[in-house]
Amino acid sequence: MYFNDNTLVFFNGQWLKAKDLQVSPYVQSMHYGNGVFEGIRSYATPDGTKVFKSEEHYKRLLHSAEKMYLKVPYTAEEFTKFTYELLEKNNLGNAYIRPLVFAGANMSLIPTNEVHVMLCAWEWGKYLGTKLLDVMTSSYQRPNPKSCHVEAKVTGHYVNSILATTEAKQKGYDEALLLDANGFVAEGPGANFFFEKDEVLFTSPLGNILPGITRATMFELCEELGFRLIEKHFTPEEVKGADSAFFTGTAAEVAGIQSLDRVNFKLKWEETLGSVLQAKYTRRVSFNEYGNFSFV
Ligand code: PMP
Repeated sequence: MYFNDNTLVFFNGQWLKAKDLQVSPYVQSMHYGNGVFEGIRSYATPDGTKVFKSEEHYKRLLHSAEKMYLKVPYTAEEFTKFTYELLEKNNLGNAYIRPLVFAGANMSLIPTNEVHVMLCAWEWGKYLGTKLLDVMTSSYQRPNPKSCHVEAKVTGHYVNSILATTEAKQKGYDEALLLDANGFVAEGPGANFFFEKDEVLFTSPLGNILPGITRATMFELCEELGFRLIEKHFTPEEVKGADSAFFTGTAAEVAGIQSLDRVNFKLKWEETLGSVLQAKYTRRVSFNEYGNFSFV
């Protein structure tokens, strides 16, 4: 699904066939989860293939790497160049790009100077699909910000996302919504959360969430559209009284939610501010409506 016999990946400055890539069984990241990664999308636009907000993604990757003591030998600009090469070599337009930085062989719990950088890409549909989602309040909390750097995209943090997603699916829901250690809504396992009430949008503040690049794009689009968007703490009970809700993320894009804990939102999705943002986001990423956005 992710690669075939001809797929090329970037690995430590070289272009290798994905099927030939080998790593040591002793890599620290595999045992203890201290890799960092990104999820980026490229879009086939009338002006050719464009990587959406490449610089922002690679700056976040470098920030995550620094927090985890992983020394990366490339700049955000170099990463962007490699990404365009990766897409070209694999003949990809609309693609999902996965940069991964991981530690080399090291069975101790201290950082290692051996750091590997891998970039791969494949065609991937919307992560949460296109149907409206039935969401449950997870019994799992997001990691406590005092236990790790929640604003960094660290591979180990995704154990929490896997548990929450699996619980939701096992209980017949499409997706989970996780609370923070204080009982306020934080985010989904792989996406940020927004709700609408009386034509105002709300989202959780930074502190317990990944600062999503799609979330930041929502702030920009709301400003352009004249929509009010407020960051504040809120509980699942407040969300249940909302008019509508949605998730945002690079993989999910803008995904409408039908219900939380089987309580349906009041508005039809087509009548919501989220649906306007969803359409605007699609235009922003895939057509020549870039404005000042940093398509590189
Ligand atoms: N929260 C989590 C936990 C995520 O994994 C993601 C996906 N990277 C997001 C939010 C959304 O971030 P972005 O919009 O930058 O993809």
